[in-house]
Amino acid sequence: MLLGLYGFYVTLERLVVAHESDRLTSLMSDVIHEIREDSSQITSETDMDDYIGDLTQASTNLRIQVISSDGAVIGDTDLSDHALANIENHSNRPEFIQAIESGVGNDVRFSTITSTDRIYHSVVEQINGQELVVVISSPMYQLKQMNFQLMGILIGMAFLSLSFLIGTSYFSNRQINLKVEEEQKKQDERIRQRTHEIELMHRLANMLAACNNMVEAQKIVSDILPRILGNVNGSVSLMRSSRNQLVTQLDWGDTWPGSASFAPDECWSLRKGRVHQSNDDFHTLSCAHMNEIEHNQTLCIPLTAHGNTIGIMHLYFGQGEVRIDPIIEQLAFSVSEHLGLALANLSLQEKLRSQALSDPLTGLFNRRFFEQKLEEHTMNSATTEQPISLLMLDLDHFKRFNDNFGHDAGDFVLKEISALLKRSVGDDEIACRLGGEELAVILPQSTMEQATEFAETICESVRSMHLEHKGLSLGQLGVSIGVATYPQPASDVEALVKMADQALYMAKDTGRSRVVNYSQYSQFKTPHADVIELEDKKPSFVS
Ligand code: GH3
Ligand code: MG
Ligand code: MG
Repeated sequence: MLLGLYGFYVTLERLVVAHESDRLTSLMSDVIHEIREDSSQITSETDMDDYIGDLTQASTNLRIQVISSDGAVIGDTDLSDHALANIENHSNRPEFIQAIESGVGNDVRFSTITSTDRIYHSVVEQINGQELVVVISSPMYQLKQMNFQLMGILIGMAFLSLSFLIGTSYFSNRQINLKVEEEQKKQDERIRQRTHEIELMHRLANMLAACNNMVEAQKIVSDILPRILGNVNGSVSLMRSSRNQLVTQLDWGDTWPGSASFAPDECWSLRKGRVHQSNDDFHTLSCAHMNEIEHNQTLCIPLTAHGNTIGIMHLYFGQGEVRIDPIIEQLAFSVSEHLGLALANLSLQEKLRSQALSDPLTGLFNRRFFEQKLEEHTMNSATTEQPISLLMLDLDHFKRFNDNFGHDAGDFVLKEISALLKRSVGDDEIACRLGGEELAVILPQSTMEQATEFAETICESVRSMHLEHKGLSLGQLGVSIGVATYPQPASDVEALVKMADQALYMAKDTGRSRVVNYSQYSQFKTPHADVIELEDKKPSFVS
C-alpha cells in the first residue's frame, strides 16, 4: 500500500509540475508579448531590472529574470540592485543552457538564491538587438503543499476506506460466524433428532419382533409410535384371511376416529396400491373409511410383507388444510415398513401357534394344549383354592355310526358336536379333542355339581340334535360324559384325569348317552372292585 501511495504521490507531482509548466509557458508568452510591444521604448540605456519589475506578470509568485547570453543576470524581479550586482553567473543553469541550445528551457530544482524549490521556464528573445534569455519561475512550495494536502486527503480517505473495509469485514465475518454457529447448532440438533428417531425405529422393530400377540403389539405401538411420529393419531388395519375386509387392530394417540372395519375398496391407498393423502395440492379425496370426518387430512400407507398387502397404516392429522411435515411423512414410511413385516410375522406366528395347538378337523384345542392347560389350571386352583372340574366325553357307538353312514358323515357329526361345545363353553373354559371321537372340557372354578349340570346340558343338546348329511337324516346321537373335580376327590392332575375317565366308563356301562360324576361312581364301586374295573377297562386317557 505504501508503495502504491508513493507511486501515486510521484504521479501527482508530475501532473502538478506539468500543469505548472503549462501555466509558466502561457505566462512566458504574455511576458514576451509585452516585451515585444515595448521594444520601441527599450534602448541600451534601459535598466532591464527595473523594466521587468514593472511588467504586469511580475508578482511574488512569479519571478522574472533576464540573463545575457554569457550568463550574467541583468534583471531579477526577486533581487535588490545590490544582490543583483553580486549574483553569480547563470551560464551553468540547466534552463539557461537548454534555452541557449534550443531556444526553450525547463527545469525543476532548488534555488540557492531564494532558498525554495522552483520550477523554471526559459526562452531566448532578441531585445534591442541583443540575444537575451528570459527566465520565469514560480515556487514549488505551494504546489508541494497542495500535493501534500491531496496526499493527506488521499491517505485519510484510504485510511477511512481501510477502516470501513476492516470494520465491515469484521462485522460481516462476525455475522457469518454467528450464522455458521447457528446453522451448526441446527445441524447438530437435526442429527441428534435423526439419531433419536433411528434408535426409536430400531427399538420399535426389535420390540415388535419380540412380541407374541396383538395385545403386546398394541402396547408397543401406543408407547413408541407417538415418540417417533409426534402428536398424530394413527391406526393399523389388517386384512382378514378372506381378503374382503380390513379390521382395525392397533391404534395410538387419541381414539381412532375412522371405521373399525371396512372393505378394501373403501381405501384409496389399497385401490392405488400406494400411499394416499386425502387432502393435497391436487385433490381432496377422502377415503370412505374416514367419511364421518369432513375435509379430513389422512395419510393411508399400504403395509406389505413378502410381496403381499397385509393391511394399511393410517395417520390422521385433523380437519382442514393441514400441511403434513415431510419429515413425519418420511418417518411414517419407515414405520410402515417395520410394521408391515412385524405384523406379518406376528400373524404367521399366531397362525402356526394356533395350528400347533388346535385340531384341524374340529377347530377344538388338541391333546397337547389340553395337557398343558389342565396342568396350569390345576396349579392355579391349588393357589386360589378354587375347584376345577374336568369332563371326559366319548361319542356313543361311533364305530357303528361310521359303518352305517360313512366316514364323511362321522366327520360331519364330530364337527357339529365340537361346534356345540365351542358355543357352550365360556371364555375361561376350554374344549378339546383328545383323539378320535373322544373330547374333553376343562371347567376352571366349577364345582362337581356345576360341572355335572353343565355336562347334562351338553348331553341333552347332543341327544336332541337332528342332523342331516347329504339329504340323509343321521338319527339320534348320544354322548357319554364322565365328570371329576380337583382338589376333591382328585388330589392331583393324574387322579383328576383318571377319575373323569372312570366316570365316563361308568356312563358307558350304565347305558350310554348320560353323565356320571366320580362321586356317583364311587358310590357304586367298592375300592377293591374299583381297581379291578379300571385294570380291565384300561382307560385311554391315563398314561
Ligand atoms: P362306544 O364308545 O359307545 O363304546 O362305541 P364306539 O364305537 O364309539 O367305540 P370305539 O372307541 O371302539 O370306536 C371309536 C370309533 O370312532 C372308531 C372309529 O371308526 C371312529 N373314529 C375315530 N376317529 C374318527 C374320525 O376322525 N372320524 C370318523 N368319522 N370316525 C372316527
Ligand atoms: Mg372311543
Ligand atoms: Mg365311542
